[in-house]
Amino acid sequence: MTLNILFAANETGWAEYEPHLRHWLAEAGIEAQLGPDLGPPSEIDYIVYAPSSEVQDFRPYSRLKAVLNLWAGVEDVVGNPTLQVPLARMVDNGLTEGMVEWVVGHVLRYHLDIDHALANQSGEWLPKVPPLARNRPVTVLGLGALGSACAKALAALNFPVTGWSRSAKSVAGVSCLSGPEGLEQALARAQILVLLLPLTPGTENMLNAPHIDQLPEGCCILNPGRGPLIDDTALLEALDSGHVGHATLDVFRTEPLPAEHPYWSHPRVTVTPHIASATRAETASKVIVDNIRRGEQGKPFLHVVDRQRGY
Ligand code: NDP
Repeated sequence: MTLNILFAANETGWAEYEPHLRHWLAEAGIEAQLGPDLGPPSEIDYIVYAPSSEVQDFRPYSRLKAVLNLWAGVEDVVGNPTLQVPLARMVDNGLTEGMVEWVVGHVLRYHLDIDHALANQSGEWLPKVPPLARNRPVTVLGLGALGSACAKALAALNFPVTGWSRSAKSVAGVSCLSGPEGLEQALARAQILVLLLPLTPGTENMLNAPHIDQLPEGCCILNPGRGPLIDDTALLEALDSGHVGHATLDVFRTEPLPAEHPYWSHPRVTVTPHIASATRAETASKVIVDNIRRGEQGKPFLHVVDRQRGY
């Protein structure tokens, strides 16, 4: 039987994905019609999806078996009441590698105070020796696919890493905490804090004024998770006072971040334009096809989102 696979993620680049998806479908021996414009919705078997998709009403897709999201974050689709089939999110080595590189790079920037070196090239000899990583505690909020990989990479560099998640976890080399009581300890230890939580009703404004107060003076924050994890007003106040030493923010409530937003001009903020880790067509296409193959073999889909939890 020939499957109909709708690529409903145009912004993400059909031209980029097409050769990789066709390659992996052929490897898997799956015959499929594939593209952004395929027959009537009632004949579609799978949708490859991105949040920008024009498909918002899934009811006409009466034969749909699964929606396969190209993004790790699903906050824009998870609550869609018209979606009644499994929703899988993206868990992919390429995505994970990119996030590990971004997080480790920015942690090392803070740890080594690379900004100090960049700002002092005037001929004045100003030795400033950083501590060893073993003396720089880092906390990662969120120990999922991305958070646990970042935590492990940082631990491998000798940073004392604390990780925090909703349920109890065990990650080699990482001190794992969970639940509300664990959060207080995780924050109190963080000279550098990394936010890798999904956006759900339970995580929105997680980094609010009371939680920012629990961070050590001068703590630096990295947010590659989602913008609404942070109460922006509280963070700006803490940056102004110096309680938070610096923040590198990759994600925002409004994207692109408006040119007049105070984050752009704040001396203690670095803005990066949601590039911490992109889904790469080359590796993600295999993940998508693997899931289609599983579906066709009657196996459970991988990386299925828990619609109640929201991630
Ligand atoms: P996962 O779903 O694998 O992991 C989520 C983690 O967050 C889990 O450890 C989970 O706990 C924890 N968590 C969820 N809710 C809570 C809560 N209320 N309290 C405490 N912990 C909680 O997600 P990923 O690691 O794959 O991705 C994380 C996020 O990174 C994505 O949702 C997305 O927003 C963002 N992202 C950003 C990118 C960028 O370029 N900036 C690129 C890709 C992703 P538990 O383990 O107990 O379930």
